[in-house]
Amino acid sequence: TIQRPPEVQESRLLLPIVAEEQPIMEAILLNPIVIVCGETGSGKTTQVPQFLYEAGFGTPGSDNPGMIGVTQPRRVAAMSMASRVAHELSLTSSKVSYQIRYDGTVSPDTSIKFMTDGVLLRELATDFLLTKYSVIIIDEAHERSINTDILIGVLSRVLKLREDMWRNGKDGPKPLRLIIMSATLRVSDFAENRALFPSPPPIINVAARQHPVTVHFSRRTSSDYVNEAIRKVGKIHTRLPPGGILVFLTGQNEINGVCRRLEEMFGKKAHSNRNLKVAVVPKKTPTDTISHIALEQADVEAEEIELGFDAPEEIPGDDDGGDEFDVDDLESDGDGDRALNEELGLNAAETESFMHIVPLYSLLPSDKQMKVFETPPPNSRLVVVSTNVAETSLTIPGIRYVVDCGRAKERRYDVSSGIQSFQVTWVSKASAAQRAGRAGRTGPGHCYRLYSSALFEHHFDKFTQPEILRTPIEGIVLQMKSMHIDVVANFPFPTSPDRDMLRKAEKLLMTLGALGSPTAGAVGGEITVLGKSMALFPLHPRFSRMLVSGQQHGSLPYVIAMVAALAVGDPFIHEEGLATDDDGDNSSSSPEAVRARRQAYFQTKATHSSLGNSMSDVFKVLSVVGAYEYAGGGHKFCADHFVRLKMMEEIHKLRSQISNIIEAGFLGTSALFTPQLPPPSDLQLKSLRQLLTGAFIDQVAVRKDLVDQNTESGIQYSMAKGIPYRAIGIDEDVFLHPSSVLAGASPPQYVIYTEVVRTSRAWLKGLTMINPS
Ligand code: ADP
Ligand code: MG
Repeated sequence: TIQRPPEVQESRLLLPIVAEEQPIMEAILLNPIVIVCGETGSGKTTQVPQFLYEAGFGTPGSDNPGMIGVTQPRRVAAMSMASRVAHELSLTSSKVSYQIRYDGTVSPDTSIKFMTDGVLLRELATDFLLTKYSVIIIDEAHERSINTDILIGVLSRVLKLREDMWRNGKDGPKPLRLIIMSATLRVSDFAENRALFPSPPPIINVAARQHPVTVHFSRRTSSDYVNEAIRKVGKIHTRLPPGGILVFLTGQNEINGVCRRLEEMFGKKAHSNRNLKVAVVPKKTPTDTISHIALEQADVEAEEIELGFDAPEEIPGDDDGGDEFDVDDLESDGDGDRALNEELGLNAAETESFMHIVPLYSLLPSDKQMKVFETPPPNSRLVVVSTNVAETSLTIPGIRYVVDCGRAKERRYDVSSGIQSFQVTWVSKASAAQRAGRAGRTGPGHCYRLYSSALFEHHFDKFTQPEILRTPIEGIVLQMKSMHIDVVANFPFPTSPDRDMLRKAEKLLMTLGALGSPTAGAVGGEITVLGKSMALFPLHPRFSRMLVSGQQHGSLPYVIAMVAALAVGDPFIHEEGLATDDDGDNSSSSPEAVRARRQAYFQTKATHSSLGNSMSDVFKVLSVVGAYEYAGGGHKFCADHFVRLKMMEEIHKLRSQISNIIEAGFLGTSALFTPQLPPPSDLQLKSLRQLLTGAFIDQVAVRKDLVDQNTESGIQYSMAKGIPYRAIGIDEDVFLHPSSVLAGASPPQYVIYTEVVRTSRAWLKGLTMINPS
């Protein structure tokens, strides 16, 4: 029997989906596949797993003893939803568990398992029939993450196999059920795709008890949306009745900056210092540190199974890009205020409360992310400043006002050159609607869009493009081949990837030795023995290639550390990011302190750049990883060495995870993971460099004066800054990224790069010099 805490009992009954329990369960029991659509906050994620659990799913001895598996595109959601559902059912975290790439609470007792979509995809490689599960819920299908899309395609086949086996009377598990959940009604790519589901599955619509949300467009669209957002939040706070404010911005630095400024003006301290009732409205400041933060750690939300590298940073000196609608904002403060009030038909409220400001983005440590669910302190107004994590994944209680900048940071990928860019682009109309909807959960709400209605009508796409059309797919293709989907082009994709992209992916996999000679209808052939070993790792194939051939000279532990670092991404806070605290704390410092900090920064940079006189960004990270372990990790080390704690912790965990895979899998070695490694020997460094070169053999850049017949050769350069390079497959000059160890030295003839990112130029990042003399 189920024992729910009384307050849960009560709040559950208010969720629209609870009223639909019976029709939903009926549909699930009568159909192998069911699609459930319902507004964000209607209770899909927290309640549907409970319906199943109450109906006996996931309980040993019942008709459906296999686990209830629930996938999420984001780690944050997998973790927080598991803990919420455990709480609602009064069960332990080993019964209602989560599993993400680095971490998990899964046990033999687990009944409900929340995981990222990447985790389930990997499980399919070792247990294609998913025998441990009786039902799989694919959540947030509307987001069209690449892993979710592939999962739906693969599961359509798994379902059929499980059913055939069961009909043929073989021993083994009962048929598997699939539930696809979406926050929008746009499910035709799944529901009406005959290649995917020969007979269309039933769609259940949960009527949302959504309160009306009044949408207010700006009269004009200003490119300075950061300051606009601050002003709007200030006005709402000083003039409008109580209710939480949710602000949508694009990235971490932007969010931390806004939180800091709001804290200064409206935080608890500012509030107690101020004589009450002086309504302070922030002035529009000139272009300053916030409006054009040069360096932005892009937020990467999804499990990075297909990529192996994390989001690069933007380039210093570039603006935040993409805004062609840069119209001066002529609206005077006074007019704006009055307009705001008149629009709402409300009188200025007294500001006797202060703001309780909480940032939310995926790189924020998990305990800080969970703060959005805590009840704000008395006499305060909750202000959450978030990336689109809050768009559909997490429902934050008590939000009455939404401030939407209308933009999001998106990964773009150019198929022919492999150039990636992170651009701040307009969101889709569907996303904007989701964002607005967040204001109507508790009562009637208001959404302030920091862009004009004309812009919205004419320049916003209707829906967000599926991720599979704009991201590299080598990792996914290897996963699919390891599931013996040999002709990937024939796979029932909800949306098929670009043919060129597929061809390119198979070519790279052949280069890396993961695929054999071509089979009919495909570029690459079947998976090789090497490829199968590579597919064991939750990593980009380039990285797994290094692992499976990295055993020379006892270098494997170093290869593991290096690969873990490459996969997690560059943990260094670069020069331009010095002003911002990594963990979302708001602090300001004196000029002297800033100067001292800069000095310390250049010192550590030099220290870590010198490993084996390496001329390699990759070895620089390896160096800091080593030092971190010797120091015993921790916040202080990270502050002193200008690295991000969360990423260092992830590197540590990934090292351990990779070591476990190797031990359990093909190597048979044991006790591989020793966190503290002595510095690598010259011989070991040499073999690391060789492995890197082998894995990135198609990503070599040559200094342009060496290839260009028209240029005089023999030029002596003292600094690599501004020196053009040429790279295979890229029809333009490329440059060494200013944050690279190599950028400040004399330019090497050849480098390998791990990524190319475009802002104003095509920049090479993650550099290692080849063949240093
Ligand atoms: P959906 O998946 O349909 O968007 P959810 O099941 O995520 O809806 O959310 C249902 C309700 O549960 C929301 O009102 C949300 O605020 C609440 N909720 C979810 N997680 C938590 C949590 N960790 N703490 C408190 N309330 C939560
Ligand atoms: Mg949900």
